[in-house]
Amino acid sequence: MTIIKAQKGTKDILPADMPVWHLMEKNANEIFSRYGAKEIRTPIFEATELFARGVGDTTDIVNKEMYTFEKSERSLTLRPENTAGVVRSFIENGMHRLPMPVKLWYKGPMFRYERPQAGRQRQFHQVGVEVFGIKQPTADAEVILMAVNYLKSLGLNDLSVELNSLGCPECRDEFKLHLKAVLRPYLKDLCPDCQTRYEKNPLRLLDCKVPECQKIFSKPEIQEVIMSDFICEECAEHFNELKKYLDELKINYSINKLLVRGLDYYNRTVFEIKSNNLGSQNAVCGGGRYDSLVRNLGGEDIPAIGFAMGMERLAYLIGEKEDKKTTAFVVSNNPAEAIKLAEELRKAGITCEFDLSNKKFVKQIEKASKTAKYALILGEDELAADKVTVKNLETSEQKTVSRQIVKSEII
Ligand code: ATP
Ligand code: MG
Repeated sequence: MTIIKAQKGTKDILPADMPVWHLMEKNANEIFSRYGAKEIRTPIFEATELFARGVGDTTDIVNKEMYTFEKSERSLTLRPENTAGVVRSFIENGMHRLPMPVKLWYKGPMFRYERPQAGRQRQFHQVGVEVFGIKQPTADAEVILMAVNYLKSLGLNDLSVELNSLGCPECRDEFKLHLKAVLRPYLKDLCPDCQTRYEKNPLRLLDCKVPECQKIFSKPEIQEVIMSDFICEECAEHFNELKKYLDELKINYSINKLLVRGLDYYNRTVFEIKSNNLGSQNAVCGGGRYDSLVRNLGGEDIPAIGFAMGMERLAYLIGEKEDKKTTAFVVSNNPAEAIKLAEELRKAGITCEFDLSNKKFVKQIEKASKTAKYALILGEDELAADKVTVKNLETSEQKTVSRQIVKSEII
């Protein structure tokens, strides 16, 4: 019979991988809570329109990468990212009435129909943060700090923060005009995607990975426009203040004028955190400010900023974490007594297993040595005396103790 395999671009997260995933999840809860963020879990599918309006219908995500299907004449989509879903929930649940800022964090699977390769899957996981209600750059600094400290808690230090300001819609419009003017002579040489972007979303041109396009962008007259300080005074002040906070916090960053981010909703601050130890898919975190998204999705005029991190890429960087052995393994030919002893220990918070398949005594000892730190031997002598022999499998020391104090013999 043919074997059914996992779908292209999807991966099982196997028991051996779990220590790393548990670490990422536990630290997310611990670190983000310290900043006052609360966890939110939104549905995995939403109305397609949410992403078309929220992520932007000129983006690759919406145009090429969405898993969209119909049910009862409704168009639904598996979430490609979670900011739009969190914003929908924020509005729907009246969170604008809560005292600001509202700080939320999430984790979970996302779906994008992309070409699978190292660091790029069709179902992948993100952990992210969204902070609502603060227009000042203190929120930008706080969000970047949350990302950096979370990464540090995972032991990831060899990372660089890249920063840019996209300005506000007004100053950006002017920049787009300049950019379009200087690119016009090269329009026919740009890739087909860039020709569309030129009309619909010129800022995204800078994000193009096609070498021929990059070559055109590196021409001096085009670089001059890209490198110009196009942002208005207010936006510049916001950006300068953020940089000042980051300097004071000793967070290393560099300015990357080509950083525009793939999503339409960003304004002012955008940032990415990259690793030197990942191949070409080297971004572990992407984020930015999205002051008009809540309003665009039908809510109040509430500014916000957030980030998302790719958990598979983090897991790769964290590497392997040793799977913990079971603490104790009961070795006995009396399953009824073995199960009772195992339960007593589990009630005391100790991980404990026993032989479920009635194997010979020696085989049970072998199994215990491979999987546990202690063997709790319950032979006929022990049972008769209401005692247990506790064998430390690392040092081979053993002693026979009364059943009541077994727990205290185990560290
Ligand atoms: P990229 O440039 O790598 O495509 P992106 O701009 O599409 O990233 P975001 O939408 O900002 O990514 O998502 C934030 C993070 O989620 C990325 O930095 C990355 O770590 C991770 N990520 C995005 N797409 C994938 C994917 N298909 N597979 C695995 N991780 C992903
Ligand atoms: Mg992408």
